[in-house]
Amino acid sequence: MSVTTRIKKSKQMLRLVRPFELSTNDLVFPIFVREDAQTLEVPSMKGQRYLSLDEAVKTCQKAVDAGIPGVMVFGVINHKDEDGSVALQKDGFHAQVFRRLKSEFDQNLVLISNVCMCDFTREEFCVYSKNGKVLHEKTAQMLAKIAVAHAEAGADLIAPAAMADGQVLQIRAALDAGGFDDVAVMSYIKTDSCLFQPFYQTMTQSAGTARAGIDSSKFRIDIINEKMFIQKANLEISQGADIIIVKPALTNLDLILRMKQQFPTVPIAAYQVSGEYAMIKTTAEKGLLNEDRLLMETLNSIKRAGADMILTYHGLEAAALLNR
Ligand SMILES: [Zn+2]
Repeated sequence: MSVTTRIKKSKQMLRLVRPFELSTNDLVFPIFVREDAQTLEVPSMKGQRYLSLDEAVKTCQKAVDAGIPGVMVFGVINHKDEDGSVALQKDGFHAQVFRRLKSEFDQNLVLISNVCMCDFTREEFCVYSKNGKVLHEKTAQMLAKIAVAHAEAGADLIAPAAMADGQVLQIRAALDAGGFDDVAVMSYIKTDSCLFQPFYQTMTQSAGTARAGIDSSKFRIDIINEKMFIQKANLEISQGADIIIVKPALTNLDLILRMKQQFPTVPIAAYQVSGEYAMIKTTAEKGLLNEDRLLMETLNSIKRAGADMILTYHGLEAAALLNR
């Protein structure tokens, strides 16, 4: 009889030999907060609701009660403008959200700010662009200003999502200059995945309309090319990123592992994105797979690959299962 066979003899033995245990400490719950306070269901993500600011407080309380340490805040504002300068308005909506959540939860909840141009510009591209060319410097400089505004309002972690070269450098410098040297930067590295698709319909005022967007292959990582991914990680870490987010998670498990091997001292977050959420929800709805088991299997595989934390729209559901 083999060693593993002997261990499989009992469930308790299996528990003893497990190298890790997924817990609510690993979870970050992303929330969509609407300035117009509409609380409809997110059409492309069944089971997820837009929140008013008051409801965001209630949802964050649920997260805290469930043992989830952090939330990622997406703000859906009423009026986007041409150049995104609405982002720097005094007491803009994002700042209101952070100020309120900080005053309610203080140290009990990590507030992560997703910083991206698509929240603010009418064209809803993640980056500034001209004639189909990404304007990296201009984007990075604007992201840095937004980061300071959010840090001022209470964001604990700044997560630049634009994939602009130099974004971490500019944000770090601006935060330091603004007196926010204790605010960490958590940089996204996204492969050019189709799994973001349901999300594109979430951030527009008229929910359900897909945003236009620039050709994302110009600034995201080729899904085939892991070398390009590691190059980008090198750049972000060398410029001061405290944490790296691998996005999406399920199709990039190998990249999570490579990150862990290549950068053993850098915390790694994995983002289980809207398309992953949709795959789980729709297969469960059709009765093809058991939702709870599928959810736990995906989260555990992401953790096993090397993620230190997982951002997931299933956050509250996963916490309920883990707390059972
Ligand atoms: Zn964006």
